Amino acid sequence: MILTLKADATKPQIDSVLKKIKELGFTPHTTHGKEMTIIGVIGENAILSRDIFEAMDGVESVAPISKPYKLVSREFKKENTVIDLGHGVLIGADRVIVMAGPCSVDTKERLLYTAQAVKEAGARVLRGGAFKPRTSPYAFQGHGEKALRFLAEVRKQTGLPVVTEVMNVNDVKLVEEYADIIQVGARNVQNFDLLKAVGKTKRPILLKRGMSTTIQEWLLSAEYVMSNGNYNVILCERGIRTFETSTRFTMDLNAVPVLRHLTHLPIIVDPSHGVGIREYIPALAKAAVAVGADGLMLEVHPKPEEALSDGPQSLLPEQFAKLMGELRAVALAVGRTL
Ligand code: PEP
Ligand code: MN
Repeated sequence: MILTLKADATKPQIDSVLKKIKELGFTPHTTHGKEMTIIGVIGENAILSRDIFEAMDGVESVAPISKPYKLVSREFKKENTVIDLGHGVLIGADRVIVMAGPCSVDTKERLLYTAQAVKEAGARVLRGGAFKPRTSPYAFQGHGEKALRFLAEVRKQTGLPVVTEVMNVNDVKLVEEYADIIQVGARNVQNFDLLKAVGKTKRPILLKRGMSTTIQEWLLSAEYVMSNGNYNVILCERGIRTFETSTRFTMDLNAVPVLRHLTHLPIIVDPSHGVGIREYIPALAKAAVAVGADGLMLEVHPKPEEALSDGPQSLLPEQFAKLMGELRAVALAVGRTL
């Protein structure tokens, strides 16, 4: 349930509300909005204590949250969440943020070259995989910590914050040390132990949609992260599995306006994995911006035929630069910048 506090609620009044929430065995989640403070009271059957809170000083109103996900919902927070990455990068604000780079980090030289090229073209975040979730155990599994070091060095040289995936609970601390955004991949969207662990970190979490996850299941996964204390979650649509086999997955761009309605969290789209075929990616990237995405994730590699993973869906740096010019026009047309 949501407690909306009176605009003139005093600190002692707020403190006694928080104390009461804890006494009753619930967890308070406080957000200070522009005009008022609201406290999410999370716990099973919290709404049964409605009368207690309605009678407390400083409380303006008490309302149930109708959805199974609570902190994630628009009912809990009306304004869009904007995540400040530092380096002047805001995710969920007017500017559409493009995250680009190789699927897997290979050599440091190539990573630096790619980072400089995508930065020059207007990307604001560098992506690169160190731990790779591969369908086959015989496929390249990622350079691990060495790749994390390369990402950190390239961040230092380019000023681009980095996003990289964590696959397992034991690596969360390590990845947190290096990454500006921790990615949870499609295959781990319902790895609840991992969600709890990244929920305890201080980094924003980029949570990809699973290939067979409904929007509601995905939002409940985001709720795992938020209910563990990390409110900075970015949702990333990356294509779902349908009967169609002409592309790697089917981009569900419906998800963008649906999520916009249901949640305050920023929404980005990854057409590289969603489509899986280089030549079709620009069209879907433009469509994603047109439909209201706050950002894009795109795979870029200077020698896709030598890429350690996902070469066929990696754009060349010059294709990426051309696409960025086109995306700028689309962003302007929908009242955004890029
Ligand atoms: C990736 O971004 O490299 C990746 C593996 O994506 P997904 O989890 O969406 O398949
Ligand atoms: Mn990839």
